[in-house]
Amino acid sequence: MAIKEPRLRSLLVQAERNANYGKNAAAESIYRQILEESPDAEEAWVGLAGVLTGPDEKRAAYERALTFAPDYPEAVAGLARLDGRPVPPEIEAKLAAKPGPEEPTTLKPTVETEVEEEDDAPYAAEVQYDLYCYRHPDRATSLRCYNCNRPICISCANKTPVGYICPECQREAEDAFFNSKPLDYLIAALVSFPISLLAGYLIVRFFNGVFLYYILIFFASGAVGSFIGRITKRAIGGRRGRYLPGLVVAMMILGVVIPALPFLLAILVGDLRVLRQLLGPGIYLFVAASAAYWQMR
Ligand SMILES: [Zn+2]
Ligand SMILES: [Zn+2]
Repeated sequence: MAIKEPRLRSLLVQAERNANYGKNAAAESIYRQILEESPDAEEAWVGLAGVLTGPDEKRAAYERALTFAPDYPEAVAGLARLDGRPVPPEIEAKLAAKPGPEEPTTLKPTVETEVEEEDDAPYAAEVQYDLYCYRHPDRATSLRCYNCNRPICISCANKTPVGYICPECQREAEDAFFNSKPLDYLIAALVSFPISLLAGYLIVRFFNGVFLYYILIFFASGAVGSFIGRITKRAIGGRRGRYLPGLVVAMMILGVVIPALPFLLAILVGDLRVLRQLLGPGIYLFVAASAAYWQMR
């Protein structure tokens, strides 16, 4: 089926433009987005085939186009070229008779700017169409992800120093940032747990509600937490993991909960006097865990 919907036509023009500028990855992403919504769009299949690099992938895309539009000239010609066969003359004639890539008339460019050939940054001077967020097809926007070039609405866009980025690309960038190995999680647990348990035991055992202890806890906790964070980070070679800070915090909570179990059980059976006994360890845990968390980030 030829694409009729103005929004998808606009995407198709965007994809073709990207392909013409050699931005194949961006073009591919837009073609795939069109096909997600309109899987029978032969124009998008042919466009996709044009920007794919693997011969098998190319062939599959051309063949998909032909299943929806048998004898679609671009697809027939594409397959012939792929096989090194000459393009049949009647197909050549059909291709030649077609008008060049037409700009859809339903779309009104809001900025009329000629794109110069030698311009290295074609998007800077590019015509702005009425775009729709690729995650919210009902939201019009003029923003694009600087990485994949797909339109995104303001609530999806994250501002970075180099432009707006979409949530998917953001996640990818973060995955590249987090470089920990699976074993790091085990090492982090093995290093942080014993220290946390020792610190937790001392604080639970010796805290007795005297005012001086509060002050001591308040100042010592930050240093203890920071120490646990630093030594754990060093043990895993300074690598970063999405859940490593959380893991260390969990170890520190265990480090207090285990020695405090008798008190916690006493509370369960209704002895609320021990609550006071847990105030110090509670403050320690809050301050120290925050410090360790920031060290692990
Ligand atoms: Zn993106
Ligand atoms: Zn959105």
